[in-house]
This record gives sequence, C-alpha cells and structure tokens, in this order.
Amino acid sequence: MNVDFLNLQKINARDADEMLSVCKEVIDSGCYIGGEQVDEFERKFADFCGAKYCITTANGLDALNLVLRAWKLQGRLRNGDEVIVPANTYIASVLAVTENNLVPKLIEPDGNTFNITAEGIKSAITDNTKAILPVHLYGQIAPMPEIMRIADEHGLLVLEDSAQAHGAQLMGKRAGNWGHAAGFSFYPGKNLGALGDAGAVVTNNKELATAIKALCNYGSHKKYENLYQGVNSRLDPMQAAMLSIKLRRLDSDTEYRRRIADMYIKYINNPLVITPLETETSAHVWHLFVIKTIYRDQLQAWLASNGIKTLIHYPVPPHKQQAYAELNHLHYPVTERLHKEVLSLPISPVLTDEEVMYVIQKINEFKV
Ligand SMILES: *Cc1c(COP(=O)(O)O)cnc(C)c1O
Repeated sequence: MNVDFLNLQKINARDADEMLSVCKEVIDSGCYIGGEQVDEFERKFADFCGAKYCITTANGLDALNLVLRAWKLQGRLRNGDEVIVPANTYIASVLAVTENNLVPKLIEPDGNTFNITAEGIKSAITDNTKAILPVHLYGQIAPMPEIMRIADEHGLLVLEDSAQAHGAQLMGKRAGNWGHAAGFSFYPGKNLGALGDAGAVVTNNKELATAIKALCNYGSHKKYENLYQGVNSRLDPMQAAMLSIKLRRLDSDTEYRRRIADMYIKYINNPLVITPLETETSAHVWHLFVIKTIYRDQLQAWLASNGIKTLIHYPVPPHKQQAYAELNHLHYPVTERLHKEVLSLPISPVLTDEEVMYVIQKINEFKV
C-alpha cells in the first residue's frame, strides 16, 4: 500500500465544483484586488477565531512581520529589543524578528509538548526583552495563560505564531485570541490552506488592526494618501474565495484529524517510539503528528520501504542554519535532540482508516 504524507489534490477535490464556480464569479466581477470576497473572508475568519479583527496578507511570514513592524511604528518596539522565540520553531518565526531589526532570544521547548514553557520564558527575560513570540507548534497551543501572566507582569507584547494552529483551543479559547496579535498562514499544506500563498493577522486591538490594514497596502489608509512607508502584501479575492469555501469544513476536518491522532496514540505500541502529548485542557488540531524515536532515520527508511511517506519538521533548527551564522555557536540540547528524533506521520482529512491502520501496523513491526 502507498500512503501519501498529505494529498492536497484529494483535499481540494472535495470542493472543486464550488471552487470552479466561485472562480468564474471572481473573473466575471472584474475585481481582482480587495473587494467583497476579501472582506467576507476576513469577517468569517475573525469570527472563527472569536476575535474582533482579521487583516489578510500575502502570506504568513508577512503577517508576523507586519505586526512587529506596526508595533515599531507605534513606538512599542525599537531596534535591538529582544523578542523571545522558541528555538525549535520553523525559521519564519525568527525571520520576522530579525527582519525588523529585533533580536531573537531563542529558548528551549518542553520535550514532550514541543512548546515553550513559562519557566523558559522567565529565565530568558532581560531588561531588553520587549515581546514574546510563542509558536503553537504542530497545532497545539502554547501555555498561553501563563505566558500572558508573565507578559502582563513585565509589560511585554505577545504575538502568537498561529500558522499551524487554526482552530486550536486551550480552555475553550482559540488560537489567535490569546495574545495581543496573531499571525496565521494559509500556505496550501496548512490546516486551512489556500491554492497559493496567503496569510492573516488576527487581533482584538483596533489601532493595531488599522495600522496593519494600511501597512499591507503601501502604508495607505486612503487611496493616494500614505501614513507609513508600507509594503504590498495583500490577499487577492480569488484566494479569499477559496478560503471561504474551505473554512466551512475546517471544524469537521479538525475532528477528523483528532480521530486519526487518537488511533495513532491508542494503537502505536512499539516501545522504541514515543507518541506526542496533548495537554489536558488543550484541543490540539494536529497540523502535524510528530513522534519521537532515537532510531528516527531507520524508522523513516523502514516506513518508506513499505510505501509510507513521512517528513521531518524540522531537520535543522534556525540557530544551526547558515542564514544565522551569528547564532551557530549557541547550544540548545533539547532542541538539537528533537531535531534528530522527530518524525511526522501522515495525517490529513482524506487519510482513510485503512491507511492509518497500515501505518500503525508498520510502526509496530519496526525493530532494530
Ligand atoms: C508556515 C509557517 C509560517 C509561515 O507561513 P507562510 O505562509 O509560509 O509565510 C510561519 N510560522 C510557522 C510556525 C509556520 O509553520
């Protein structure tokens, strides 16, 4: 049997008829930037998160970038301020920090949840720390109540990197609604994915929403009047229309992912493999189902030889990348070990029970 890691064609085929008819609507409308499709998706996605404002951007990295940039324009951040970021995140979280001339202060995650901890944050705070950028890695919300308490105590800004956590909940509250702002990505492989690049900022802060709305449109709040030296980072109506269609399935797709994760957790019983931990008050959305084993490369090869595709998120941490030569000397033992041990199993709303049971069977048969 062959098991795909993530079959996007199959995922999008479910809505293909409706997508085609909406494409025609957009073509016939003559409106190809902004307009009703974009406004409608922004309203729906803000509602979905339970937040007041959603401002769409060209991609997830820009969403994170523009929040930090807006805070700089508002005088809430300055060049050289430190931002606490998990060391085991995808590099985009760190790029948003450095692109704004801010200093990333990388901290270790908890080896079981893969997310940063309150203790880790507390010990990294200095007089220069001005913000925290928690990442809800793999689809599980970071310990936000504790993070917000620390932020309040120290007067820090909090930007949630929610690129992997659409609809994830902690104590019933969704990603994007915990911090002062959040960045989402709708990259095609994300739990809510466009048919190209797309992203959004979500916030409950009106001034921030207004500033970002202008920033992503050349810094303009009013046609031909510019408040800021902005950028061009807009979502187009074609993608917004695709996202509105796909948003309707997101909650049921998440339930489907949660059921697969339950099956994996229940039936994987190979002592060489550790399945991921979902904390008690959390509703994980399983963007990725990440197991750990010290025999990672052997297990990946074994699964591949049985037709099962797996991926590694991520093989090299940001501080070991050539792009961050100035960070290469740093040591993060937990992070570095995780990068050697993690393996992402297939999970998606179109994976069949038969495929899941086959993956489980092959993992349980694995030996060294
Ligand atoms: C995907 C991702 C991003 C960036 O999103 P893009 O839309 O690809 O720019 C940022 N942070 C994390 C954690 C991601 O997984």
